[in-house]
Amino acid sequence: MGDFKERLAAIVGRSQLLSAAADMAPFLGDWRGRYRGEALCVVRPGSTDEVARVVACCAGAGVAVVPQGGNTGLVGGATPLGPAACPRGEVVLSLARLSRIRALDQDNNTITVEAGCILQQVQEAAAAAGRLFPLSLAAEGSATIGGNLSTNAGGVQVLRYGNMRELTLGLEVVLADGRIWNGLRALRKDNTGYDLKHLFIGAEGTLGVITCAVLKLFPRPRVSATAWVALRDPAAAVALLGRLTDHCGERVSAFEIIGRKALDLALKHIPGSRDPLAGAHAWQVLVELTDTLAGFDLDAALETLLAAEIEAGRVEDAVIAQSEAQAAALWQLRENISEAQKIEGVSIKHDISVPVSRISEFIARADEALERRFPGVRIVCFGHIGDGNLHYNLSKPEAQDNAGFIEQTGAVNLIVHDLADELSGSISAEHGLGQLKRAEILRYKSAVEMDLMRAIKLALDPAGLMNPGKVL
Ligand SMILES: Cc1cc2nc3c(=O)[nH]c(=O)nc-3n(C[C@H](O)[C@H](O)[C@H](O)COP(=O)(O)OP(=O)(O)OC[C@H]3O[C@@H](n4cnc5c(N)ncnc54)[C@H](O)[C@@H]3O)c2cc1C
Repeated sequence: MGDFKERLAAIVGRSQLLSAAADMAPFLGDWRGRYRGEALCVVRPGSTDEVARVVACCAGAGVAVVPQGGNTGLVGGATPLGPAACPRGEVVLSLARLSRIRALDQDNNTITVEAGCILQQVQEAAAAAGRLFPLSLAAEGSATIGGNLSTNAGGVQVLRYGNMRELTLGLEVVLADGRIWNGLRALRKDNTGYDLKHLFIGAEGTLGVITCAVLKLFPRPRVSATAWVALRDPAAAVALLGRLTDHCGERVSAFEIIGRKALDLALKHIPGSRDPLAGAHAWQVLVELTDTLAGFDLDAALETLLAAEIEAGRVEDAVIAQSEAQAAALWQLRENISEAQKIEGVSIKHDISVPVSRISEFIARADEALERRFPGVRIVCFGHIGDGNLHYNLSKPEAQDNAGFIEQTGAVNLIVHDLADELSGSISAEHGLGQLKRAEILRYKSAVEMDLMRAIKLALDPAGLMNPGKVL
């Protein structure tokens, strides 16, 4: 193995190969602290060519490659398995140094960015050119474009702009044998056979290493309006979304639901946060409208609609942000729920989606089944209701110990995921399968679908060295 590491060091430079335990530690565990692995070393190539040579070197030695971006993934996808599961060893391949913005084409409305670019860096580069790159999620200060692509990340603006798959025009990928596929096309129309980029988007590093991407840019909104709306139940939220969309069309750019317990956790753990409305409402939605027309009075449009909704008794209360700072404070509440839940203690998390029309039924039936089976459990429900996607999480009953609660994960998941499946939904709307849901997915995908996935894996990675033990 000494020789192998020497060969890697010769490719990336000695300082970019980490093998001391302390240096490797941050790369061997996940954001939630649920997974910890081992690796032969961590390598940090600085160019696509170096990535290709590293991957070829690993292929030659039969060593597995675990691509890693910002390591903010929530399903253990970027964590190596360790020698018990992977006896010939794994190399963590950090893309962090591939952080150049290669091009920005204002006429074509595209930006070409390397995989290690932090999402926020790409948003800022687009903004500096008077454009919008709309992907936005709470981990945007650390998550990378390569990770966003590999998990087909969603976030808070999918409703208007789509998820990462819909935001991508071209990719550059290092294949499992070390060849480079240059698919960096910046075309909105290209019907020349299979659309290969879609194989790698959402593949969680199991088919190749994404090194660069051409992403779509959009006009920058010039006006926005943000409201915090209290509602009786999720059905009222879905109905409000319908009326809001009728009224304001594609200007509805975010529509996020926050259950009472989720809000209470943010209020408890995030310093400086406060409830935007008096009275403890059971449900709230955070609504954002945006428009590129500078003179358009979005606040007035929102106010008229919400006043009519309150008058009709369909909305309990609402507040419209009067400044950017107030809007930011509302978003802070939403974005800090995951952090607050982490501080509160252990939790069992789900990232399900169902058709928007079945959200209300999902929440009612899941709540009822879980509360009956696990008395005292605290259901922390929030998410992108406009996309039919809920982070339907459980915090332990106050009196229960952590270990006893976590032991119930399998039984809890069965209830939640079986119900999502019954309602024609998905058990992973945006976070992927990683290690976390690799076994569970077998229950929900047909044998035909699993066969197709295995056939693709075999065709692109016959030796099974790309991020083994994840997805499949
Ligand atoms: C607080 C918080 C909020 C979040 N909110 C959202 C949200 O709203 N929506 C959402 O979709 N996700 C969300 N996430 C999850 C996470 O941020 C995303 O999945 C993100 O896209 C991962 O990017 P990363 O660079 O951290 O990837 P990593 O965690 O490093 O990797 C994720 C997966 O992609 C693979 N990978 C990484 N880079 C490459 C590459 N260049 N080539 C091939 N494979 C690669 C890894 O092997 C792994 O399987 C959230 C996470 C946190 C911590």
